[in-house]
Amino acid sequence: MAVVGAGVIGTLIARELIAAEPGTSVTVLDRELIAGGTTRRSAGLHFPRGASPAVRAMAAESQRYWAELAAARPGLPVHPLPMTVVASRGAEAELREAYLPEAGLRPARELPPQLTEVPEGSACWTGEGCQYADVPALTQAVAAELRPRVRFLEGVGVTGAAPGPAGTVLTLGSGGTLTAARTVLAPGPWTAHPAWRELLAPLGIRVKKIVALHLELPPSPDDGAIVFHDEDAFLLPYRHRGHWLFSYTCQEWDVDPDSVDPGVSAVHRAEAVAVLRRYAPRLADRCVSGRVFCDAYNPAGGPLVRPLTGDGNLLFAGAAGGSGYRLAPAIAAETVRLLTKRPAGRPPSTADLSPNRNQGPS
Ligand SMILES: Cc1cc2nc3c(=O)[nH]c(=O)nc-3n(C[C@H](O)[C@H](O)[C@H](O)COP(=O)(O)OP(=O)(O)OC[C@H]3O[C@@H](n4cnc5c(N)ncnc54)[C@H](O)[C@@H]3O)c2cc1C
Repeated sequence: MAVVGAGVIGTLIARELIAAEPGTSVTVLDRELIAGGTTRRSAGLHFPRGASPAVRAMAAESQRYWAELAAARPGLPVHPLPMTVVASRGAEAELREAYLPEAGLRPARELPPQLTEVPEGSACWTGEGCQYADVPALTQAVAAELRPRVRFLEGVGVTGAAPGPAGTVLTLGSGGTLTAARTVLAPGPWTAHPAWRELLAPLGIRVKKIVALHLELPPSPDDGAIVFHDEDAFLLPYRHRGHWLFSYTCQEWDVDPDSVDPGVSAVHRAEAVAVLRRYAPRLADRCVSGRVFCDAYNPAGGPLVRPLTGDGNLLFAGAAGGSGYRLAPAIAAETVRLLTKRPAGRPPSTADLSPNRNQGPS
């Protein structure tokens, strides 16, 4: 099997593939280093919600997966966080539907100190199940554990993907080809790459910029994430880097991942400050820098896992629309279910994959 793309999604797919079929040979290819694409700039927040029943089911599945993995590997950079959700009072019914029951959403007894000005008509709730990760470090740690059972070809671009009777023939930028009986394309926002542009065109995927500002203000150990529901924005105490992060919804669509300017523009700063000023004016003035990249979005909402050929041996996985970290485990499980033609309801094991387990017949 081949997986094109060693972001958080491609890497977890590889992990689930060898968990499902331990003896299978799996190669992951990336023209960059592992986690060198969108994953490198991910803010890494997971919060227990979904805009539709399908996404809520994925969020619940992913939440369990990350919690189990973090419990089994205490050194992994996954950090549980308290969570406050701010929304207009009228949105309470919507909130109760969007958040998982296990989040136990309830009116907040006290407000986080950062929220100095909650506007009239807004209210705060608190709940469980929120965490954040250093996503590139986590992805690299998972990949390191998979080696050598999974072969990672870094710095190897795929320049062609041609489905045929023996499988998909991948043309490699480093020279030669690799033919895989089953192949997953997990290229993040590089959905318009000439190698697969025509294959993916029917999916209608679009690419949108994502912007998160950095606030030069150290978080304290008790600080939690603050989610601004109505604005689809959040404040994250970025403990491992010693500053806060504020993510807001940037509306720049149809950008090219190869030419996205990674710098924060004056417009981005103004947009972010306008949102934050409503709730935390003192923090708004601290938005001085940040991170900018893009992600693939499924126009129907929620991520996409789709066969691209009639035999189902070539699949696309991704388009998680800014939620690729928090939904990656569920995307990987669905990909592997389709690729190994397992019946629904029988996900592959996501249990321990420590060395010597699942080694498979030699
Ligand atoms: C600023 C920012 C903040 C974010 N915050 C969050 C958050 O808080 N929570 C959350 O859940 N999600 C967040 N996201 C979204 C999340 O990071 C992405 O959804 C996720 O990283 C996508 O993973 P991926 O594996 O699909 O893509 P990628 O990480 O982009 O991986 C795709 C890989 O494919 C490789 N590739 C592409 N073309 C080729 C080719 N021709 N040959 C070989 N390799 C190729 C690329 O080099 C890349 O490494 C954020 C994203 C950004 C940009």
